[in-house]
Amino acid sequence: MALIVQKYGGTSVGDPERIRRVAERVCRFRREGHDMVVVVSAMGDTTDELVALAESVSAAAGKRHPREMDMLLTAGERISMALVAMAIREAGQEAISFTGSQAAIITDSTHTGARIEEVRAGRVREELNRGQVVIVAGFQGVSRTHEVTTLGRGGSDTTAVALAAALNAERCDIFTDVDGVYTADPRKVPTARRIEHVTYEEMIELAVAGAQVMHPRAVEIGARYGVPIRVLSSLVDGEDGGTLIAGKERGMEDPALTGVASEKGWAQLVLRGLPPEMRTMTTVLSRLTEAGVSVDLLTQVDRADGRRLVQITVAEDEVEEAERTCEAVVRELGGERVDVQHGLARLALVGSGMHKRPGVFAQAFETLRREGVDVHSVSAASTSIILMVAAEDEARALTMLHDAFGLGAAA
Ligand code: ADP
Ligand code: ASP
Ligand code: MG
Repeated sequence: MALIVQKYGGTSVGDPERIRRVAERVCRFRREGHDMVVVVSAMGDTTDELVALAESVSAAAGKRHPREMDMLLTAGERISMALVAMAIREAGQEAISFTGSQAAIITDSTHTGARIEEVRAGRVREELNRGQVVIVAGFQGVSRTHEVTTLGRGGSDTTAVALAAALNAERCDIFTDVDGVYTADPRKVPTARRIEHVTYEEMIELAVAGAQVMHPRAVEIGARYGVPIRVLSSLVDGEDGGTLIAGKERGMEDPALTGVASEKGWAQLVLRGLPPEMRTMTTVLSRLTEAGVSVDLLTQVDRADGRRLVQITVAEDEVEEAERTCEAVVRELGGERVDVQHGLARLALVGSGMHKRPGVFAQAFETLRREGVDVHSVSAASTSIILMVAAEDEARALTMLHDAFGLGAAA
């Protein structure tokens, strides 16, 4: 019999009835003889409520008091881990719950966005050997200086896959409120279809681009340690269907695109009239790095009069800092001005099948032109194309591209 790690998200443990359902499912696997480690998220909207509570005491609490934010938010998972352990015991199996710290999920010390450095799985293993189902609070860990940390929103997936890697588990099951990974967020694109098998690389691209169903770092760990990940619905009985995230050779006839994803909350800055020299870009980038702003897309163009234009996209919550910094750089280099465009959405077309396939760009632009959607900037890598559009065009553009590339249900 195998060791299986299962993770249940917020909706899956959203109320006592659902917690009992989780307990029944876990007990069924246990009775079949599997060793079970269960990672849980906070119940329902608990984390959002705790964030709102913090912000009612201190605006921007996460930025101003990151340590205390972590102390607060870890309480959410602590509630559900204890309740799930109790429900499993009531259903007839032995169970014990651990906080991230007790389960020795060792992280760096970056509060509200810590990275797992090591999982010392000794204690979890000991309890498994005693026949216990081990419940671990997701999304949290402890630093080497004994501070409680969290892994960033959605981070319970990462706890689960990291534990599966450390324990050499047969696989990691992610139970959520959809029955798999779809070709697009089914809440935004009605024609989205479930994907049966997606590669780690494609899933990372989709997750980074806003497909919330998996935390990107969870998939990175899965890829690095070769942990097969299954995404399944906890709201239906049984484990049919779902999506397998694993390595896979692509077939020659596989479609160009695997899926699309999108995210609002982006802005674009255009720095005009700069000197056409290498130092222009290096100055812009190093000043932004010093200011703690991360740059997403980046382009430069030289005008007919010889002056250079630099265009960057940044997250909307960093745009003020970015604008201040860029204005200072433009002054320093004797440029003309900075223009800022707020309210953009970032669309990603993802698929390893699009590599070396001509016409994907043309088809994407033609589709958007027909719909009257302007593209503000664009970039391409081997498995993805990124397009920035106005936020109000997001859902429409996403649906049009999704269907134009044959990902829709009718295809
Ligand atoms: P959990 O609380 O279980 O971690 P999340 O809310 O984090 O669940 O993730 C599940 C949600 O992700 C779904 O309800 C769905 O709306 C959204 N989602 C976004 N993109 C996708 C996609 N490509 N496939 C499936 N779900 C997606
Ligand atoms: N409860 C945390 C969140 O809402 C972690 C998670 O659910 O994965 O972000
Ligand atoms: Mg999630």
